[in-house]
Amino acid sequence: LTTAEEEVLNEIEEEDVDFLRLQFTDILGTVKNVAVPARQAEKAFTDGIYFDGSSIEGFVRIQESDMRLVPDPDTFAILPWRQGEESAAARMICDVYDTSTDEPFEGDPRRVLKNALERAEEMGYEVNFAPEPEFFMFEEDEDGRATTDTADHGGYFDLAPKDLASDVRRDIIYGLEDMGFEIEASHHEVARGQYEINFEYDDALSTADNVATFRTVVRAIAAQHDLHATFMPKPIPKINGSGMHTHMSLMTEDGENAFHDESDEFNLSDTAHSYLAGVLEHAPAITAIANPTVNSYKRLVPGYEAPVYVAWSDRNRSALVRKPAARIPAASRIELRSPDPSCNPYLAFAVMIQAGLDGIEQDLECPDPVRENIYEFDEAKREEYGIETLPSNLGEAVDALEEDEVIYDALGEHVAPKFVEAKSQEFEEYLVDVSDWELDRYLETF
Ligand code: GLN
Ligand code: MG
Ligand code: MG
Ligand code: MG
Repeated sequence: LTTAEEEVLNEIEEEDVDFLRLQFTDILGTVKNVAVPARQAEKAFTDGIYFDGSSIEGFVRIQESDMRLVPDPDTFAILPWRQGEESAAARMICDVYDTSTDEPFEGDPRRVLKNALERAEEMGYEVNFAPEPEFFMFEEDEDGRATTDTADHGGYFDLAPKDLASDVRRDIIYGLEDMGFEIEASHHEVARGQYEINFEYDDALSTADNVATFRTVVRAIAAQHDLHATFMPKPIPKINGSGMHTHMSLMTEDGENAFHDESDEFNLSDTAHSYLAGVLEHAPAITAIANPTVNSYKRLVPGYEAPVYVAWSDRNRSALVRKPAARIPAASRIELRSPDPSCNPYLAFAVMIQAGLDGIEQDLECPDPVRENIYEFDEAKREEYGIETLPSNLGEAVDALEEDEVIYDALGEHVAPKFVEAKSQEFEEYLVDVSDWELDRYLETF
């Protein structure tokens, strides 16, 4: 056993952990659990835990269904919702192995991200990510089902007592801190019932693990207060949706921020400019992964602080990529504003990284920043500036993904076709559905 594994075994002993939840995610980003008695921890580290992969979304075909989970000891955390009880439960996030080859399973989203990080490492970089997930909290009805009624009447940065859900948010933050999160900030977002919690940047793999954990913790603690927390991108029309802005930077092997250059007008290095150019170049295909639901595209419309146009800016927030002001060199970074919290964080981070690395490798030219409000541009002006539009629905996004070799390949041979198949089907289903809007509009008119 490694030292980290030994430490986990000690902690299991000390904290009286009786059950371990071994977690991984499917292609859609849903967290899956296999619960084992804690005394199996050692065996899990040495041999792994076998499970039937055929029942997991997009994992494997029936005939090759045996998978092995190997827990990552760095992800050990006691679950906060059994506090006060005598024994505890803990979780670890796992890597998935293919039992027929004993190699890491290429259909494991965590593996897809690790592939991107290995490429970064070969190029001499470590990757840091920080997300800003937004979400709504809604009241439940008498049967405990989610409604879209909000529990509070606060607005952006409003303080209690108007922000009635701040108690819940405080419990969420305590729960996250118990699980090892460094919370930077938490505030009420623009829309009624909408919140944002920011956590400290970390390497991209830990951050992806954190996003997966975050969604579970937020939903579980909201539920304890009879509220339904949702990461659906646009639950209510005509008000802001929920995004997950993602901040990215590269670090050199000696711990310097590879994105910082004092002498540049924007304090961005050539490396940062090329990375940014790569992200812009591959933005349409990235959208399929970072905005993977039909509903995601209801958020990506003008007027609600969500990006629509492929451009970057150091000033305004209508652009797809923003260069936030950084007070210290270590904080130089770029912020991609398109992702929403319904994405699979492993796959989304993997394609963002591969897009940026492609920009560096190809030495792509970064366009000038756009400092005006792009929402107010007409088509002619956008054409003059050479500004493209993001895909306007899931179908277009999947087409863009299929056309972009770099992003398609970034997902790997297993995930790419499975993802395209699942999302094409989802879009088809949506297209043939008849919505309430149509019934309201046409049923009595015609
Ligand atoms: N909710 C907005 C979005 O959809 C972002 C608002 C903000 O953080 N300024 O991206
Ligand atoms: Mg924010
Ligand atoms: Mg926000
Ligand atoms: Mg932001």
